[in-house]
Amino acid sequence: MTLRTAVILASTFAVAGCSTTAVDVPARLLLDVPEDARCSGQNLAIDTAFPAGAIANCTISDDGQIAITISPEDEPPINCSPWYAFRVHSAQATQVAIRLSYTECGHRYWPKTSTDGVNWEYLDPSNVDLREFAGRAFAELTVTTNGAPLFVSAQEIVVPSTYDAWMDGLEGESSVERYLLGQSAEGRPIEALSIGNSEAREQVVLVGRQHPPEVTGALAMFPFVETVMSDDALAVRFRARFHVTAVPLLNPDGVVRGHWRHNTGGVDLNRDWGPFTQPETRLMGDLLSAMDADPEQELRLMLDFHSTNRDVFYTIPDELPTDPELFTRDWLARYQERMTDYDVNRDARHAEGRPISKAYVYDTYGVPGVTFEIGDETDRELIQRIGREAAIAMMETLLATPAE
Ligand SMILES: [Zn+2]
Repeated sequence: MTLRTAVILASTFAVAGCSTTAVDVPARLLLDVPEDARCSGQNLAIDTAFPAGAIANCTISDDGQIAITISPEDEPPINCSPWYAFRVHSAQATQVAIRLSYTECGHRYWPKTSTDGVNWEYLDPSNVDLREFAGRAFAELTVTTNGAPLFVSAQEIVVPSTYDAWMDGLEGESSVERYLLGQSAEGRPIEALSIGNSEAREQVVLVGRQHPPEVTGALAMFPFVETVMSDDALAVRFRARFHVTAVPLLNPDGVVRGHWRHNTGGVDLNRDWGPFTQPETRLMGDLLSAMDADPEQELRLMLDFHSTNRDVFYTIPDELPTDPELFTRDWLARYQERMTDYDVNRDARHAEGRPISKAYVYDTYGVPGVTFEIGDETDRELIQRIGREAAIAMMETLLATPAE
């Protein structure tokens, strides 16, 4: 018998046992409703009292059906990245029916569940029913609880504490130094990793998580950075010539609040490169202009990690001159060679003056800027491989360029 079947049988038995009279319900099965529950019903409750927890509202009917409404943080128009994350509390092991409906956009992210907030499982397709009403997609889920709180989330929960633990683990490495770059609008630390030879002339800048729901971009950035930091001969050689500054979490406020897109200033940070009206983007603008002002430093490349509906690199077209020359073409060719059984997608375009990171670094410094996009539901093991192989190809390609 599979574990899932066992739980279902146990819950069926429990329901049958309870149905005689209310008096028969053993006291230990009554739910201790969390103080900050968003809604509660007989033996069920929903809360969002954890970083990235977010729903607009919820109700629980007498027969135990949960209805959750999901809305963006700011008035539309807003990018359709309808994030949700909540926790289901039940008094006992049971199956719970949950309907997700959206005031904007409709359903996008396949639900994932976790009992510890660290290890995640895709909800089985037999327990997800995607429907449409009045032209808007909604989702009906069936989740199985074991009596302990169950996280249900649009993506894995990757929040400041996750980055903190990751950076703690990196700090023992001699190739890296962690430092405070500055603060978000709400005063959260925005940290940076300084990787490699701090005396190096040639500089690479990596940035991540401008957009809160874009967790798969973060899942690629972790192995990418780890590969650049590794003891491998290529990485050692790379770090002797290049210095990397990585800012993995640029929008911690949006991440903690479970935003769809913005920071707490109501701004899409990747539409603010150039104006730099927000404290978060200003840190990046200052970092780049300090590099530019230093005659001992030369920016060579900027990569910005994101997520969309597929794996794709948004790049500057090869027809536009960059320094290093044709870096992107050569990098992606090497990367494709390493990624057998996988098609590398590239979408090359440029609109001058567009206030996004890749256009800004190109317009301002003439260097290649690339938006590194990972699909929302790309296989998580494949994402690890993408991060590693893209980093190896980047190091090889940059090492093959003439030294500045
Ligand atoms: Zn994005």
